[in-house]
Amino acid sequence: MTANPTAQTAATAALWLATHHKWHVLPLHPSTKRPLAGCTDCRNGDLHHADQCPCLARGNGALCHGVWAATNDTDVITRWASRWRTSVWAVHLGVSGLLAVDLDAHGGTAPAQPLNGLPWPDREPPPADGIDTYATLASLSGAALDTDTFATDTPSSGLHLVYTAEPGRWKSSRGYVRKGDDTVRTGLGWQIDIKAHGGYVILPGSTSTTGTYRRASNTVTPAPRPNWLADALTRTGHDRTTPPAPAAKAPAPVVAVDGHGPARYAASALRSACTELAAMQPNTGRNRKLFRSASRLAGMVEAGWIDRTGVETALAQAAQHAGLPAGEIRYALASGFKRPRPAPDIRSAA
Ligand SMILES: [Zn+2]
Ligand SMILES: [Zn+2]
Repeated sequence: MTANPTAQTAATAALWLATHHKWHVLPLHPSTKRPLAGCTDCRNGDLHHADQCPCLARGNGALCHGVWAATNDTDVITRWASRWRTSVWAVHLGVSGLLAVDLDAHGGTAPAQPLNGLPWPDREPPPADGIDTYATLASLSGAALDTDTFATDTPSSGLHLVYTAEPGRWKSSRGYVRKGDDTVRTGLGWQIDIKAHGGYVILPGSTSTTGTYRRASNTVTPAPRPNWLADALTRTGHDRTTPPAPAAKAPAPVVAVDGHGPARYAASALRSACTELAAMQPNTGRNRKLFRSASRLAGMVEAGWIDRTGVETALAQAAQHAGLPAGEIRYALASGFKRPRPAPDIRSAA
């Protein structure tokens, strides 16, 4: 190990972090700062998930499915670094057991209520940026702003604080604050986003077209997330494990998926619903289509033909592809599952 691993190039930092912390890393496009494109099959219309992807399963270093291609396999990382000489690398937080608090400094005037779901204290002046907002949120929880963890300064004067956190538990923030809104209903507050499941942050040493990301902390080891942060995350809807409303009845036993009869019927119904939905344009009834598909498949879930999580994930992904906002997706899915349509009688076809 070197004395100052993250003062080197981004690729070297990425390799060091994958080796020493087992972080899952990936190269990004230097100007879009987004994952590099995967193969045509995975890009075009094929609605399989990353965890069912033949390219990723081969483990040969395909960059399919965006951030889900991230790996801590040092051979693959070395191959990527020589093939894509990009200067921007990132860590996929969720799968690395990490969470990042993304504090921005975009300027502008803070809304009257800069905290998501909490009143801004009267004694405080309005925040100038995300760091201010976050410091006030911490103080309301009786905590100080603790930056003694893996931290990165961004070229736009923002700050990423990276903490270790329960793998799979925390959601990334969705949505944005519209100009003129006087209340923040996304992230933890004004210019504070959470990045975790499916989220990534750029590693120090990276130089994008907007500038260089630099290590802001003395330590290169992430601290455990503060306790108060868990409460704030749960309060603002970032907890993926928050149990949904109790179901009206016990779930039906799951029929083994043998590729025949009801299971096959349900899988094919799901596939065609997803294909249709994903291809829909705005203002053509995407919401309604999602609700109807969810309701129809909910009946098959109740009949034990197909697994609910698989249905929800696939429909949500298709709806997201069609550009439906996350909030509307959640609502339409939940509504559909509340009103399941009875599964069709397919005995003759089975
Ligand atoms: Zn692929
Ligand atoms: Zn794939």
